[in-house]
Amino acid sequence: MNIKTFKGGVHPPERKDLTSGLPVESCFPSTKTVWIPVTQGGAPNKPLVQVGDTVARGQKIAESEAFMSAPVHASVAGTVKKIETHLATGNVDVQCIVIEADGSDRTDFMPPLDPFTCTREESLARVRAAGLVGMGGAAFPAHVKFNPPKGSKIDFLIANGAECEPYLTIDALTMRDEAARVVDGVAIAMHITGAPEGIIAIEDNKADLVPVLEKAIADLRSNPVGAGARKIRVQLLKSKYPQGGEKMLITAVTGREVPAGGLPSAAGCAVSNVGTLKALSEAFREGKPLIERGLTLSGGACANPKNVLVPIGTLVGDLIPEVVSLNPGVSKILAGGPMMGIAMKSASFPVQKNTSGVLFVTDKETTLLEETPCIGCGRCMQVCSCRLAPVLIVRALKADNLEEAKRCGLMDCIECGTCAYVCPARIKLVQRFRIGKAQVRAETQKQAAKAAAKEAAKAAQGAK
Ligand code: SF4
Ligand code: SF4
Repeated sequence: MNIKTFKGGVHPPERKDLTSGLPVESCFPSTKTVWIPVTQGGAPNKPLVQVGDTVARGQKIAESEAFMSAPVHASVAGTVKKIETHLATGNVDVQCIVIEADGSDRTDFMPPLDPFTCTREESLARVRAAGLVGMGGAAFPAHVKFNPPKGSKIDFLIANGAECEPYLTIDALTMRDEAARVVDGVAIAMHITGAPEGIIAIEDNKADLVPVLEKAIADLRSNPVGAGARKIRVQLLKSKYPQGGEKMLITAVTGREVPAGGLPSAAGCAVSNVGTLKALSEAFREGKPLIERGLTLSGGACANPKNVLVPIGTLVGDLIPEVVSLNPGVSKILAGGPMMGIAMKSASFPVQKNTSGVLFVTDKETTLLEETPCIGCGRCMQVCSCRLAPVLIVRALKADNLEEAKRCGLMDCIECGTCAYVCPARIKLVQRFRIGKAQVRAETQKQAAKAAAKEAAKAAQGAK
């Protein structure tokens, strides 16, 4: 098989061997309590339950009428104890529904639905009802992703199994243990999007999964479930960071480019994480909403790195020390991988639909050195797979020149961290880009509010 890739990128130490050969353990928080964020991707939801209510596993507990939203479901059967704010990924306080498990297995799943005989509208409604969002990081509502803008034609459904972040292995293990589910999800997503070809893209450090996936594809073909099962294949990619970024993946697999500011559909592609595709299969075949997920717990300060399957809303801190124990000298707790993950101020934050891993890292594994002045070496430009000039963006931001930062491509940055990884001056490029983007968004909102107020004043004047 030919091995494809994209231009740019880096190859940080993988450190996947800490967990790659282990089973995925089903675990439950020691407190028997989950803190489920009311919104986990898309527009803000509102709680549908009150303190004191009894809920079943899979029962919808929060939703929004907005199209760009995904409902949230109870991940355990029990009683709603509190609805209050709690620390969540990103070090923000978010509203959570706190459910104490009663130990029963009462479930409230939807009835199974045949994805190949129902209408497209019914399929999209099922994807939304199951609360599916991108589990690889972005938490983008899946029913929106699988419903590309009118007029766009999807040629390829790409299953993203690249998992290019060091340490993380949950996607690889999902493909190893649940290959049939992943392949079924690919077929379903192809059917919904109308993609004639499905490609499961994995890096060549996971080449041992090729026969596993090919067997699952052959099994699906010999037991046809509909038109979507026809043309699925595996594509190996060179192990390189950020291979799993949507734009890089599309370029590597198809040779097509997503235009700046454009969606994958602009290149005739739909991309979905392999964990999301497994959940997609379950949403149709079992009527099961997205209420649990697998994640990697690892890092040099972690005494027993492993992959676990936990109910959504499990506080990471509640898995310590029963499930995972820590060595002295934890210097950072990262929600996500070391390249794009966010340093958390405490382990007391819930596993969400898009939490692919939590790392406990030591001083040795992290860059704690102070920034020094930029030496203009240009390395950041050489590795940026989005072909941006990080050094120019950061200079503009330092000079408080948002317009210039935007002109240099600030809003096209995917925050992959590759530039910061190679920067010899250890400039905190990504942190600065995140702050810069937030400033741009705030400025845009301010301008929109100003324009709306002006319009309203004009209309009021005209009515007089
Ligand atoms: S890599 Fe760092 S030091 Fe080199 S040009 Fe970019 S920002 Fe400056
Ligand atoms: S500028 Fe953005 S997209 Fe380019 S390498 Fe840096 S973080 Fe990645």
